[in-house]
Amino acid sequence: MNNFLESALSAHQNGDFSGAENLYRQHLNHHSQDARALYGLGSILLLGGNLEGLNYVRQSLILPPDPDFNRSLAADSVLSTLLSQQFRAHALAFLEELSSLGISIHDVESKLERLRIPPYLSPSRLDHQLGKELKRFSPMESNCYVYAIDIVGGCNLRCPTCPVANQPAMPKGIMKIELFEEILKKIRNEQGEFPIDIWLFNWTEPLLHPQIGLFIEAIRNSNYTSLVSSNLNSGDRLDALMKAQPDRLKISLSSFKQEIYGVTHARGNIAKVKESLIKLASLRDLYKSKTAIWIGHHLYRNTFDEKDEIESFAKSLGFGYQPSPATLTPIEEVMSLLDAGALSAKESSNIYSKKLADQFLFDPIDIQRKNKRMRSGEHDCELRFNMTTIQHEGNISLCCGTVQPLTEKPISFLDISKAEIEYIKYNNVFCKKCIQNNLHLTISDQ
Ligand code: SF4
Ligand code: SF4
Repeated sequence: MNNFLESALSAHQNGDFSGAENLYRQHLNHHSQDARALYGLGSILLLGGNLEGLNYVRQSLILPPDPDFNRSLAADSVLSTLLSQQFRAHALAFLEELSSLGISIHDVESKLERLRIPPYLSPSRLDHQLGKELKRFSPMESNCYVYAIDIVGGCNLRCPTCPVANQPAMPKGIMKIELFEEILKKIRNEQGEFPIDIWLFNWTEPLLHPQIGLFIEAIRNSNYTSLVSSNLNSGDRLDALMKAQPDRLKISLSSFKQEIYGVTHARGNIAKVKESLIKLASLRDLYKSKTAIWIGHHLYRNTFDEKDEIESFAKSLGFGYQPSPATLTPIEEVMSLLDAGALSAKESSNIYSKKLADQFLFDPIDIQRKNKRMRSGEHDCELRFNMTTIQHEGNISLCCGTVQPLTEKPISFLDISKAEIEYIKYNNVFCKKCIQNNLHLTISDQ
């Protein structure tokens, strides 16, 4: 193998992307038709959000077969990269191209289906504040319409990256099961043709609710799917949880080292979490529960090297493992960094004073700059068109990214139609600022 290519593949494998890019380019100067180098260069550019990478990938896929280059695996991996960079429309077009190239990838039909805009969504919507029509896309968070419902107001932890810790005190309390059933009834009446997914959390810890099992059962009785997310610091109610069998259960953590976990999940105790994870696995087996359980691993610079250890632990219990870079929430917190200018914000912000910001894999300000570069401004925000968030008293909040109420005067979900909620969202000044600052949830398209 040529030296440049060998070194490029090795740098690529070790995560030295800029080194690998240079070496691929040098190799291609002499071997312009090398599929592995074209594909490697294309994938690195896409990973950096540069769509020029797709041209290199296409060239690699149309070359005559090469025993050292598996086109199906390469195409599948490019698809994952496009999705991770939120190039959803490009991912759909790429998938459609593959069949004309005679390349098949695993589960192509369901991947295609997942990328097409579902029939319950109109293709675009007028934003009255921005004064323009915004295009929609296939939702990234769920393939159903989502209701995120805080059945508890409050959390036992104080993570500095969460509004529970970094915003003015949030309302406390618990939702009554009777109110929840009324909410489900209204959802059913307004449902139309679309499938529903209910999340039993927004900014809070659902296992603090003494009747958690009843809420999960009520969702199942309505034929909707359920998702619970927990920090699992309390070993209480695991039995009720597993008996009730939510469809999905995510356990979020950052590190198995208390000195790190205790900062990212202030007030938390990782030894208790591990103990609860083991108990959860045995209860799942006892009740023959079909709940899909996974550990959501928050990646920081100082937790990245624990990926293998945490993944093996998850797998040893039959749980899934999903790593993702830790981010700063809510949107208000990032807005205040932008408003103050990153430097002065560093002096005052809670997150910076906890020295956590230096541990982010991607600085919140850099993410916003990258978003600006990769977005045309033509697309809508998924948190407006595919999700409604409800607080424990039954009032609606603007979305799951903020602590803003829907309107200044609280409105109960029971007293307003789905169409009226949407109308208010598309007339909202906070949404306007959020979209203009590229802090919303949308796709990349340039
Ligand atoms: S465990 Fe979750 S809800 Fe609680 S403070 Fe941390 S991020 Fe917020
Ligand atoms: S535009 Fe921003 S504030 Fe409005 S719904 Fe989307 S993420 Fe939330």
